[in-house]
Amino acid sequence: MVESKYPLIPVEEAQRQVLAHVQPLQPVEMRFDAALGFLLAEDVYATDNMPPFAASAKDGFAVIASDPSRERRLVGEQLAGTIEGLRVEPGTVVRITTGAPIPPGADAVVMVEQTEERDGRVVIHQEDVESGADVRPPGQDIADGQLVLGRGTRLGPAEIGLLATVGQTNISVHPKPKLAVISTGDELVEPDRAPGPGQIRDSNRYTLAAAVAEAGGTPLVIGLGRDVESSLEELILRGLEQADAVVTSGGVSMGDKDLVKPILERLGAVHFGRVYTKPGKPVTFATVDGKPVFAMPGFPVSSLVSFEIFVRPALRKMHGYLDEFLFRPEREVVLANDVYHSAARTEFQRAVVTNREGELHATTTGFQGSGRLLSMVGANALLRLPYGEGDFREGDVVTALVIGDIH
Ligand code: AMP
Ligand code: MG
Repeated sequence: MVESKYPLIPVEEAQRQVLAHVQPLQPVEMRFDAALGFLLAEDVYATDNMPPFAASAKDGFAVIASDPSRERRLVGEQLAGTIEGLRVEPGTVVRITTGAPIPPGADAVVMVEQTEERDGRVVIHQEDVESGADVRPPGQDIADGQLVLGRGTRLGPAEIGLLATVGQTNISVHPKPKLAVISTGDELVEPDRAPGPGQIRDSNRYTLAAAVAEAGGTPLVIGLGRDVESSLEELILRGLEQADAVVTSGGVSMGDKDLVKPILERLGAVHFGRVYTKPGKPVTFATVDGKPVFAMPGFPVSSLVSFEIFVRPALRKMHGYLDEFLFRPEREVVLANDVYHSAARTEFQRAVVTNREGELHATTTGFQGSGRLLSMVGANALLRLPYGEGDFREGDVVTALVIGDIH
């Protein structure tokens, strides 16, 4: 019997080894408004109060709350964006707009709907005006010196707006990881070609490039390598030169043309070459001069599931996500059908999870063959069927990795 020289290791151990060899990419400076989707490499603090001055929350009149007079004299108007030098004394009010500074003397705002104005005088209809009413004190929203965004925060619309608010227009972020994608196999042709005898269309290159992009990385499609050592080596070297990491597919099992492992051995260090997992047992991880190389098995489902389990968390770490956000969220789900599973390895079966009145139900996506990419189409979860446990029955509860939206 021909035995692989690579020991079989558990999934969790393999994931641990990958993350131990991957670091967040060196931060770069960037304009805040170009940074959508990037992750902060630094903490951001406010250097002012927001609002910076006591500001009116309404259009109305700035008043002295304890002033007993119902009718008061209008002494002027304070609009947003200026300082008028007006002062509110007992028996007077100042007209004020939303966002305008509260004039000295005043300690509350009465909204215009509660007033009546005639001949330069204002009648206040509201009883019991409280001191501070409709006044936004300085620092109500953001205090000077406050930590507003922590390192590892992903910048979305609110975060970018907040950077504008605090005036941090140049920020330090981790670049988006660039991953080179290479498929290998003499039987593969471009998808727009009709396959000849013994040939099939290359799908993994496109699947993996899309998976890189969806995970927040930039895919760099290097091409299709023939099963010739020199050709594959050249493509891998090109990928290493141009990208932060390389993802290959095919050529890692036990056939004569499975050349990827020996090439990686020569170029760098292979950390593992087999994992107790289905699909994806021959998944391989190496580093070459510190850069990660992920070699996915060729079967389309093995390739994409291996990406999910091993590459995506690494890509997110390079991207700057903190450790607690590297993996897919996991949920307990109730099986809606029987599931056959060998206890010999951890298996990731594809499933559609739906929310039925708060309980999550999982239906597997039909035949779970490693070549059947259709089993991945529409799946929003991977059921993690653990090593050491056998078949599951309808109604059993298992853990699911959530890879899409649950409805
Ligand atoms: P390998 O891992 O190279 O032994 O390939 C395993 C199986 O996956 C074979 O049936 C290949 O034809 C198929 N395969 C390998 N690479 C691809 C690819 N890029 N696209 C579609 N199928 C592939
Ligand atoms: Mg092959």
